Amino acid sequence: MNEWQKSLAQIVGANHVLTDADAKPFLTDWRGKFSGQAKAVVRPKNTQEVAAVVKWCYSHQIPIIPQGGNTSLVGGAVPNQSGDGIVLLMTRMNQIDETDLDNDTITLGAGCVLQDVQEHAFKNNRLFPLSLGAEGSCTIGGNLATNAGGTQVIRYGNMRSLTLGLEVVGANGAIWDGLRGLRKDNTGYALRDLFIGSEGTLGIITKATIQLFPLPAAQCTAMVAIASIEDALQLLKLVKRGFGPALTGFEIMSKQTLQMVEQAFTNQHIPFSNPSKTAPWFGLIELSDSESAEHGQQQFENILGQALSENLIQDAAIANNLTQSKAFWHLRDSISLAQNQAGKSIKMDITIPISRIPEFIRQTDQILQEKFPGIVNLSFGHLGDGNIHYNVGGSINFNDADIINAEALVYELVHQQVYAFNGSISAEHGIGQLKNQALRQYKSPIEMQMMRAIKDTLDPQGIFNPGKIFT
Ligand SMILES: Cc1cc2nc3c(=O)[nH]c(=O)nc-3n(C[C@H](O)[C@H](O)[C@H](O)COP(=O)(O)OP(=O)(O)OC[C@H]3O[C@@H](n4cnc5c(N)ncnc54)[C@H](O)[C@@H]3O)c2cc1C
Repeated sequence: MNEWQKSLAQIVGANHVLTDADAKPFLTDWRGKFSGQAKAVVRPKNTQEVAAVVKWCYSHQIPIIPQGGNTSLVGGAVPNQSGDGIVLLMTRMNQIDETDLDNDTITLGAGCVLQDVQEHAFKNNRLFPLSLGAEGSCTIGGNLATNAGGTQVIRYGNMRSLTLGLEVVGANGAIWDGLRGLRKDNTGYALRDLFIGSEGTLGIITKATIQLFPLPAAQCTAMVAIASIEDALQLLKLVKRGFGPALTGFEIMSKQTLQMVEQAFTNQHIPFSNPSKTAPWFGLIELSDSESAEHGQQQFENILGQALSENLIQDAAIANNLTQSKAFWHLRDSISLAQNQAGKSIKMDITIPISRIPEFIRQTDQILQEKFPGIVNLSFGHLGDGNIHYNVGGSINFNDADIINAEALVYELVHQQVYAFNGSISAEHGIGQLKNQALRQYKSPIEMQMMRAIKDTLDPQGIFNPGKIFT
């Protein structure tokens, strides 16, 4: 062990300073798109250890790359090639400190895996509503640092809305204890909101106090086949009116995305027969009913009956039980995995006003087809909150090499469209190292200046996650 390894081992224990082959799994991102080098992967157990590691790094000017479940889709949690920093792996900080059912909150470590937190809430007869495809691996710290969204934002909001308090270790190792379970607190700047979504560039989130909600009596799910993206928007309006706050999810998936899932996982099937099976779009709708499953299903039958009679949908499948409902969600959650298996793809995570999504998709598809004949639209996402994962992939006429060659121009063309439609180039995945150039291009100079001023104040040596958000 060299000197600096010994220093870090004194803080976290020799077993928790990983190097060489032990460190390797943490140096490449989930997609295998970004990889880098690090002096070591360091695994602290508690806030005091994080503070001591940060203090040591601060005094030696060693960059720190915080990492949770490493499911970032923008290369946010992996180091660059310089090898001059450490990865701070937060997964040992997975304790639940307090469950306050009278206040409907949990206070917990940043390394808790999201699915474990959902299960803990369920055991306590409560709901923690953040839900996303990576929930079996991603951590609360990562969810906070990226202000994660997921499938229930339409009803419960994103991670920022679900969080009441934070504990953060700042640049010189100082610990800010902001673990307040308050729903109202107007005492100056909202520091909590500054750290949420900061992608590890301002400090290390060590703990959080998050909100719980009543468990719905039943969750009912339906899949629908839709003839056009315009019809999908009209359907959204109809179900919003019909279900009110009981509408907890409204996802759309292009035909190509679900066909890709069927090809990648032979046990998964689009639940329709032809011609609906080949509809251009599919919708996944979730209703959280406060009365009963029967009541929810009845509501679905009424609304979807109306949608059928108005020709807004071609077909509908209402899940009769939990197994069927899970199968529908599994199709949706398997899209990213299937995409990874299918070959190269270009992923964008855009948001524009919901009302303009059909126009955006039609125009942008046309621009890309004209420029890159054979490119395939693999879009899906959270239509209910205006966030589309506008992805494109290859075909027989457009292979992996073509995708790689097209990547820079595709980003540029799509991002230009996003800004023309008054949208944003990241709805939930963040900026990481994938979009830091684009951010400079599309954010106004004054916004970039204010962000830079905050970064320089809270991280004067630039040790927190360099190269992410800022170039
Ligand atoms: C299949 C799949 C589906 C996904 N679906 C969604 C979705 O629907 N919605 C969505 O929002 N995202 C989604 N994502 C993206 C990703 O899962 C989320 O961004 C998630 O919140 C990241 O959590 P993580 O623990 O894996 O963080 P990591 O990937 O480890 O880190 C993400 C960022 O947070 C920083 N960070 C991590 N922990 C801390 C900490 N304790 N303190 C400070 N900074 C920290 C890292 O440095 C990095 O910048 C998906 C990813 C996959 C692979």
